[in-house]
Amino acid sequence: MRVLALGLDGADHELVTQLLSEGRLPTLARLAQEGSYGPLRSTVPAFTPTAWSSLLTGLNPGRHGIFNFSTNPNRGRARLESAASRSGAPIWRALGAAGLRSAFLFVPFTYPAEHIEGIVVTGYGGPARPEILPVAARERILAAHPDLVTAHHPMKERWWEDFEGYTGKLLRHVDEVADVCRLTMELEPDLSLLCVDFMSSDHAGHLAYNRLDPEHPAHDPAQAGDELVQVYEAVDRACGELIDFARERYGEEPTVLVLSDHGMKPIYWTFHLNRWLEENAHLRYRRRSLQPLKGGRLDYAAKVDQRLARTRRGYARRLDRLPFLPRPRAERAFADIDFGSTRAYAYASGGQLYLGEASGAVRDPHYLDRLAAELAEVRHPESGGPAFAVKRKEELFHGPFLGKAPELTLLPFDERIYVEASRRSWATSFERHERLDPAVSYGYSGHHGLTGILAAAGPGIAFGAVPETTEITQIGPTLCRLLGIELEGVDGAPIAEILAGGGEGRHVAAGAGHAGADESAYSAEEEAVILERLRDLGYE
Ligand SMILES: [Zn+2]
Repeated sequence: MRVLALGLDGADHELVTQLLSEGRLPTLARLAQEGSYGPLRSTVPAFTPTAWSSLLTGLNPGRHGIFNFSTNPNRGRARLESAASRSGAPIWRALGAAGLRSAFLFVPFTYPAEHIEGIVVTGYGGPARPEILPVAARERILAAHPDLVTAHHPMKERWWEDFEGYTGKLLRHVDEVADVCRLTMELEPDLSLLCVDFMSSDHAGHLAYNRLDPEHPAHDPAQAGDELVQVYEAVDRACGELIDFARERYGEEPTVLVLSDHGMKPIYWTFHLNRWLEENAHLRYRRRSLQPLKGGRLDYAAKVDQRLARTRRGYARRLDRLPFLPRPRAERAFADIDFGSTRAYAYASGGQLYLGEASGAVRDPHYLDRLAAELAEVRHPESGGPAFAVKRKEELFHGPFLGKAPELTLLPFDERIYVEASRRSWATSFERHERLDPAVSYGYSGHHGLTGILAAAGPGIAFGAVPETTEITQIGPTLCRLLGIELEGVDGAPIAEILAGGGEGRHVAAGAGHAGADESAYSAEEEAVILERLRDLGYE
């Protein structure tokens, strides 16, 4: 064993720093004391699939092509994204080519699993039951954990009915993941890298922030609790035990990186971006729509209607004049937007804004400038200062997938603002987040922030702070450097400031030559089920 990369999914830099000062995360505290600790900047958008894809490939989203859980259907074939649709090469290929064995356990966006020199247990962003390779590992792991899941599913498991019970599941999952790590080390006598992700901390952040934070608009003293911290503590403990186990199993001190793919912030306000666009005459919803027929006997008509509304300019307005047709539901579908008259719309959460394709707005640079200026004038609901940094895609991404990227991204200066795109009819564009309703954006009280953590210690790691500018694209190249390999052609450089001595290693080309597949990794049926679950976060 040389390197352990331990993912505390969604662990927030500000929160972790506070918990360290309170002495509640002893493993992280020891790593910080003996090595390096500091912020790790996530991708934009700070989504699990996007961030882990950048971590695994060392590429920015413009080059790996994963901006979301699913493709904006106006920008390519509608499909769920997966490891198969990602471009670039995950680091296990470079390691394998150099004769080094690795294990990637519960790492998001590793489905469909690839045969690697080592072991893969697929993670979040794939089927609930992990795919495990090779077969011998699968048999051993499933014999010990027959009901193993990649991560719990808060909505399906109705977290709001029994939160204590749900927290218990999150904590047990931490133990199961840790045990799969131990089994992997037993199976692999010559392992160079073990990379694992604990998803429970991400879910706890989404679901329990209002219970932890007394200032949270949805905080109820009768329902207060520090479950979020309990989950962080459980992962911290599990990391400590894994470090000890690795030291004993391999007879040497491992190099350890504990990291998170993004931060987590409480939601104090929700900004309904599509509602704002509608109020300001950038977006028009249809008055008549065949979308209410979706899923019924006339499902085919709904599908045709969806296609025409997205691509034919005058279609929606003509349909609006037919009084006998149904009106859109309050919970509107993506295809209830009149794209022929819409110049800008949000797709998915995280402030992602696309310019209209059917209306031609996407080809009008003056319009882009005007819209960006207008959005920069949106005021914070409390302070009255500017609410958002408005970024153009060229400022955030580069590479062959720029056409898939949102033209503008809204980054709240105050990360307690959550920008959402769901298509309900809201009364106002800004809303204080006082009521948690599982039917609306899953009832989340926390959402992803841009700043995660990195703590590192052990052989090859220097003593000092992680620089503020450190980015997630640097993690893959850093792990490789620690194992004596230089990745060529990637966007992130090894984090020189945390690396002690040791020159460059063997050069291995990594970034080039692999293009993501256009076909979905899922059956049509699986895809429909997953997309339905994502609908409330503003996906199709
Ligand atoms: Zn995450």
